[in-house]
Amino acid sequence: MYDIVIIGAGITGAMLSWKLSQYALRVAVLEKENDIAEGATMANSAVVHTGYDPEDGTLKAELNVKGAQQYETICQKLHCSYHTVGAYIAACGPEEEKSLDVLAARAVARGVPYDDLSGDEARKREPNLSDQVTRVLDFYTTAVIYPWEVAEACLESACGNGTELHLNAPCRSITPIDGGYLVKTPKGDFRTRYVINAAGVHAEEIHNMVAKAAWHVTPRKGEYYVLDQDAQPIRHIIFPVPSKEKGKGVLAIPTVYGNTLIGPNSDFLDDPDDNGTTDAGLAYVRSNISKTLNNIPLNRSIRTFAGIRPTTTCPDFIIEEVEGAPHFIDAVSIESPGLASSPAIADKVIEILLQSMQPERNPDANMTRKAPVVLKNLSAEERNALIRENPAYGRIICRCEQISEGEIIDCIRKPCGAHTVKGVKKRVRPGMGRCQGGFCEPKVVHILARELGISPLEVVYDSEKSYILERENRV
Ligand SMILES: Cc1cc2nc3c(=O)[nH]c(=O)nc-3n(C[C@H](O)[C@H](O)[C@H](O)COP(=O)(O)OP(=O)(O)OC[C@H]3O[C@@H](n4cnc5c(N)ncnc54)[C@H](O)[C@@H]3O)c2cc1C
Repeated sequence: MYDIVIIGAGITGAMLSWKLSQYALRVAVLEKENDIAEGATMANSAVVHTGYDPEDGTLKAELNVKGAQQYETICQKLHCSYHTVGAYIAACGPEEEKSLDVLAARAVARGVPYDDLSGDEARKREPNLSDQVTRVLDFYTTAVIYPWEVAEACLESACGNGTELHLNAPCRSITPIDGGYLVKTPKGDFRTRYVINAAGVHAEEIHNMVAKAAWHVTPRKGEYYVLDQDAQPIRHIIFPVPSKEKGKGVLAIPTVYGNTLIGPNSDFLDDPDDNGTTDAGLAYVRSNISKTLNNIPLNRSIRTFAGIRPTTTCPDFIIEEVEGAPHFIDAVSIESPGLASSPAIADKVIEILLQSMQPERNPDANMTRKAPVVLKNLSAEERNALIRENPAYGRIICRCEQISEGEIIDCIRKPCGAHTVKGVKKRVRPGMGRCQGGFCEPKVVHILARELGISPLEVVYDSEKSYILERENRV
């Protein structure tokens, strides 16, 4: 019997499994997709908000502040990128400046540091800020991360400590049994004492397997442009003043890899899995970014994408044991700032678990992971030494991002490693650059086939049957 089954391997499930792996518990993470974090955690603004925005008295406010405070240390331990770029909240005119006063008061009460700048002072530091901007709050401790990397690093470390990760294992039913629950998936049945529902936009379906939910998931799409690394129009994250209707608004975000994101919009959806971009959504992004910024080179866009917020009819995070379903815990309604809050969301779930279980510490737990080789970040001497040891680091496969065959092999062979083309792309970035995989994808297919001991015809792009090649036409 498992102690805990976590449903969903997004940042909520991943961070929780990592923190739980410090205990001697038998934990399984069930993920319906063919890789981890394919939901909201894959497609978002990647901002570690510092906690000035959520309304007073909410779990969002409490857990955002607590979660953000842990992030830098977590990223250091797990060798993940963490760039403190700072966030400007830009007000245009007296009405919007009043909203800045509200945010400033919340920041003071929550111990979140900031500077108050005039429009002209801010423009000296951020030259493309629009002339309409009259005042700016500079939340200079705000950071950006690569959310997918953090989720993967958490699961890699957790799995090293004994956690089981089951991919392609959608939870189909949950039935109460003596001492817990029986969770059924096409990959097998899991008997467990506790269940954690971290299923994002599908959390309502999971909840309704044990009790009728008093809330509904109301998914909201957000669409983005990704600008080429050569086009870097901003130094800080630039936010408009937030509003109740449109949330944080359309932002510009300098990512950890030097690309700039422009987005998102915020549109309710009927289909929680409809993650395609739309003409209307991108037009909204284009027209709204010009309010706070000039000279955004949207003609340097190399890709567009959309993410879906697991919003519900409840305006706050829901983290609680479900009434009438003992030992079934929801970690749901995790919309923004869910990423920034995730370390504290995990703590909150563990606090609930510890009310009814007293697990021993896992004496062998190692809460770090091995730093991956990133050739681009090494000096010429370090690179040469590495290539002499292993020539695969000398063969560049992705020219845009300068990724070597050695790095691709590493990401396939490591725990929770890649077994799909998109999995390689997300772990080490071939295909993320200007050519979007035009040159490197065929090579990645062949490396995957060789490493996994399968035919190139069996290599998939992402989901289980998303084959890329139809037949061999060359010998
Ligand atoms: C456009 C956008 C911008 C955002 N920007 C920010 C930001 O800048 N900062 C911030 O803090 N937050 C931001 N967020 C919010 C943040 O991304 C989410 O709060 C967070 O990623 C939620 O993580 P999760 O693990 O709860 O959900 P998800 O990442 O969606 O993970 C849920 C997982 O459950 C799996 N699953 C679903 N059903 C089943 C099933 N039946 N069986 C097994 N597995 C299942 C899914 O496949 C998925 O992998 C943003 C979100 C969006 C969409």
